[in-house]
Amino acid sequence: MRIVVCMKAVPSTTEVRMDPVTHTIVRDGRQAVVNPFDASGLEVALEIRERLGGHVSALSMGIPDTVRLLRDAISRGADDGLLLSDRAFAGADTLATSYALSRAIARGGMPDLVVCGKMAVDGDTAQIGPELAGALGMSCVTDVREIEHVDEGHITARRRRDGALELVEAALPCVITVAKDAATPRMPSIAGVRRGEAGTVEVLDAEAAGCDPARCGLDGSPTQVVRSFVPERSATAERVEGTSAEQAERIEQIVEGMAL
Ligand code: FAD
Repeated sequence: MRIVVCMKAVPSTTEVRMDPVTHTIVRDGRQAVVNPFDASGLEVALEIRERLGGHVSALSMGIPDTVRLLRDAISRGADDGLLLSDRAFAGADTLATSYALSRAIARGGMPDLVVCGKMAVDGDTAQIGPELAGALGMSCVTDVREIEHVDEGHITARRRRDGALELVEAALPCVITVAKDAATPRMPSIAGVRRGEAGTVEVLDAEAAGCDPARCGLDGSPTQVVRSFVPERSATAERVEGTSAEQAERIEQIVEGMAL
């Protein structure tokens, strides 16, 4: 079973700095941590490998310092890491990101399973998993809470949908996106930390990954963030009291008075 786990470096701080010109996040490698959903994704992949055997690769696109997070993934049990790092990737929207990741995945031969987090805690779109599946021609199961069964040909998973749990079976190869509570990430052992330091993390630029530069980074991004700001919070709050009819009337007045 060949499994690729997509792992994004996200800011560890809530004080995210935005570039005033490109409106993209200023990524400071020292403050980056792995997206928590991806840490669960790695654990899901490792548990599948423990049952069926195989190979788990951690894949990321980010600044050179992201190697550190891929080494951490190896220390927790991944077999190797692959980092896409090039200024050409900077400012990528979800389409350009999934394009670059799909090229890197396809380059090594199609895996049986691609595991993504359900969403990244910074960009927050939850689009990469489904877009990757589209780019790779695979089916996609999103928001997976639990893997019920997996063998060489199929995966059966429970996913959250409309407040209920849905049991879905998909043929492999396929992409799954996992919720944070899909698994509890293991801690690295001392031997694992040594393995992480010595392990293989390949770093590829856009050309080496076989990417068309016109489809990468800001140039390849049809979506661009034109402005970002912290919403102003009003300190005023009104308690609506009275009978149901009085409350409904007051709420109607409030809504009508809002500049929507
Ligand atoms: P998600 O789709 O939320 O991430 C899901 C999973 O995909 C992750 O858990 C991880 O497994 C995988 N993944 C995502 N990125 C990587 C990576 N670099 N390396 C490895 N795995 C990865 N883009 C748009 O297209 N439209 C927008 O409206 C938009 N708005 C934005 C607003 C803000 C404030 C910011 C900071 C970014 C915005 N972006 C937008 C850019 C978008 O966040 C990035 O392009 C990002 O590369 C991918 O999207 P995401 O973080 O939402 O990923």
